[in-house]
Amino acid sequence: MLNGKRFLVMSFVALIFAAFVSIASTAADVPVLGDYPSIDEMYEEIDTLAAKSDGMVTTGVYGTSVEGRPLMAFRLARRDGKERPEALLAANIHGNEYIANRVAMGVAHRLIDGDGKDEWITSLLDKIDFWFLPCVNPDGYAKTMEMRGAEPWWVQRKNAHGVDLNRNFPLPGKRWIGLHWAGSPDPEHKNYRGPEPYSEPETRAVGEFVKDRRFFVAMDYHSWGGLLIPPKCPDHKCVAMYKKICKAYNSKQKYEKYTRRQFRLLDTYTGEMEDMLLYEHGVIGICIEMGMTKYNKPEYEKTENMFWLFNPVDWRKWVENDRDASLAAIEKAYELTGGEPLPPERRGKK
Ligand SMILES: [Zn+2]
Repeated sequence: MLNGKRFLVMSFVALIFAAFVSIASTAADVPVLGDYPSIDEMYEEIDTLAAKSDGMVTTGVYGTSVEGRPLMAFRLARRDGKERPEALLAANIHGNEYIANRVAMGVAHRLIDGDGKDEWITSLLDKIDFWFLPCVNPDGYAKTMEMRGAEPWWVQRKNAHGVDLNRNFPLPGKRWIGLHWAGSPDPEHKNYRGPEPYSEPETRAVGEFVKDRRFFVAMDYHSWGGLLIPPKCPDHKCVAMYKKICKAYNSKQKYEKYTRRQFRLLDTYTGEMEDMLLYEHGVIGICIEMGMTKYNKPEYEKTENMFWLFNPVDWRKWVENDRDASLAAIEKAYELTGGEPLPPERRGKK
């Protein structure tokens, strides 16, 4: 699946795009987006991580975006050839939420740096293989840097077809009529869901990627709001499980604890990634809305740039806040599921 030759070809395409974007960037006399990396800097960071991992990180490409950018994935695991239960960490399905990528990469660095030195991290790598999709929407990510986060921000959130990718997955039941934030049929809407589920190459690639593996848990990073949002649960047992996993997340948050937002009956399907993960594959996925208004607002008010409401200036603080928390939630999910996806009878109706 992570074909080496294809990866090299696609990396070359990525370089061409990077060169184009960097020419466009130098021409524009506007400030950069703090010290958040550009898309090509992010790709370079993945290579650097792989180089320092002594073979624990294997990189590859699982698909191609609308504009032809590679959809990068990497596996972070022991080199002993054993296959362990698999955890998924995904970021930037919304292109403008740069903090999402920072925290996902922060978890990867933490695992590599802590292995063999930190008892807890070592124990996690003894029992779990970690898979990362560090930027599910590279076109939106690149567009955000190109536009310097300027209005309209939802152009940067979506893919290059103008689709909100996190409303483009199949769902097991109906959306509530009238709740357009849950996925609108209107192409002008901020949450345009696309012509049909899986109409977009980025979501189809995620669907295929997940189908080929056996994940038991997934962290899906977003911003902002300080919330932990499970998908609509089919029963109380599922709600109780999410409560424990979110509590474990909170237990390791260093500065700020996020609120679990979960209503079993007053919830709706949205076509978000977590819907697909739970109902199609039995994967316990959580949407994590990182960062908080009280921290982000001053920079937003100063710059009047929505990018800074979505993304804290000091992203390293939020890496510290959410890195170990994510690993604690993954560990709790491992305890509760035995590292296995939920069986079909526990996923809800199709
Ligand atoms: Zn988002």
